Amino acid sequence: MIDFTLSDDQKQLQELARKFSKEEIAPKAALHDKEGKFPREVAEKAWALGLMNTHISTEFGGLGLGVLDGCIITEELAYGCTGMCTAMEANALAAAPVMVAGNDAQKAEFLGMLTAEPKFAAYCVTEPGAGSDVSGIRTLAKKDGEDYVINGSKMWITNASVASWYFVLAYTDPTLKHKGMSGFIVPADAKGITVGKKEWNMGQRASDTRGLTFDNVRIPARYRLGNEGEGFKIAMSAFDHTRPTVAAGAVGLAKRAMDEAVAYSMTRKTFGQPIASYQAISFLIAEMGMNIEAARMLVYKAGFEIDAGRRNTKFAAMAKAFAADMAMKVATDAVQVFGGYGYSEEYPVEKLMRDAKIYQIYEGTSQIQRLIMAKEIFDRA
Ligand SMILES: Cc1cc2nc3c(=O)[nH]c(=O)nc-3n(C[C@H](O)[C@H](O)[C@H](O)COP(=O)(O)OP(=O)(O)OC[C@H]3O[C@@H](n4cnc5c(N)ncnc54)[C@H](O)[C@@H]3O)c2cc1C
Repeated sequence: MIDFTLSDDQKQLQELARKFSKEEIAPKAALHDKEGKFPREVAEKAWALGLMNTHISTEFGGLGLGVLDGCIITEELAYGCTGMCTAMEANALAAAPVMVAGNDAQKAEFLGMLTAEPKFAAYCVTEPGAGSDVSGIRTLAKKDGEDYVINGSKMWITNASVASWYFVLAYTDPTLKHKGMSGFIVPADAKGITVGKKEWNMGQRASDTRGLTFDNVRIPARYRLGNEGEGFKIAMSAFDHTRPTVAAGAVGLAKRAMDEAVAYSMTRKTFGQPIASYQAISFLIAEMGMNIEAARMLVYKAGFEIDAGRRNTKFAAMAKAFAADMAMKVATDAVQVFGGYGYSEEYPVEKLMRDAKIYQIYEGTSQIQRLIMAKEIFDRA
């Protein structure tokens, strides 16, 4: 049986997130964007309401909700501001490797930290010289007695300056390429970590993105996730959990852009008529609606599959790429509907267009998602 109805619990979550987004996120979005201000107070309120860390199991203080539930919440938060949403969702990305590969002690210490207090964490894979090609990372973790000593640099790390701990991917044996990488949890107060300056990005400026340097950072071996050599697999499998949620954020942004375009097109008149009466405009909006629905269905499918315990890698990549590309187009078309005013900071659509772009880049670019889809399709044909 197929049923597209949300459960009563899911409807309640959606309602809660929608209200929070409308009252707490949307009114502050423009200011946080202008000042590049990290949304600590907003995140603390979201945390108190149970809108963060929702997927962490109840055993470690979370709500134990599924990925699909997380997608429903994220779409609503992103509707208000994707910059703030990314700041909150970065916790989910950092937590995912721990959920996938952590032992009970690691989960209790590090996931428990996120659920006990409104704290942040960060996922550190990308480096100045390696993004899509993860095998190009140069960070090294060298075993030294009961410890590892980490040296290297990370780049574009969301939540770098506010995190209490980092998930760090490093080589323990560079000669083995992907099979020589290991994943570590590194407390942010460990000696030898330097946090770089805040990057002034095109969009999503409420989110904090920085470089990180690890200079002889010593951590106990018990902070390694899984076995040596399993780091790449752990870091990549985390995306099966998070890409559906990131895609849901893109859907939320696109829905906001469409709603803004609809409202404006009904009031703006040219040649004596509201511009909504022109097919050139109404068809643009019809396309927006159609593509938003299609993206949401893919998002739900990707979340549903992993919640059902099935491999969702293909669907997660499809949802992420489709929703990201769709959001970029919808936001660009929304600016078009606004004409000259769309290009101005006075109206919200220029921010939506700037914010949309990063969805095609972070958590794997739209090109990399296509590589994953093709591999999944050919390998499992
Ligand atoms: C705001 C922001 C936040 C981020 N947050 C994080 C974070 O929290 N943690 C983290 O680890 N990283 C983070 N990243 C990094 C992000 O994941 C990378 O930027 C992304 O994976 C792309 O890597 P790159 O920038 O090195 O681009 P490159 O890998 O150099 O790619 C450049 C271009 O080439 C294309 N390309 C590369 N290889 C191929 C190929 N084989 N086939 C076809 N096209 C290809 C890419 O799609 C892209 O268009 C963030 C980035 C930004 C900008």
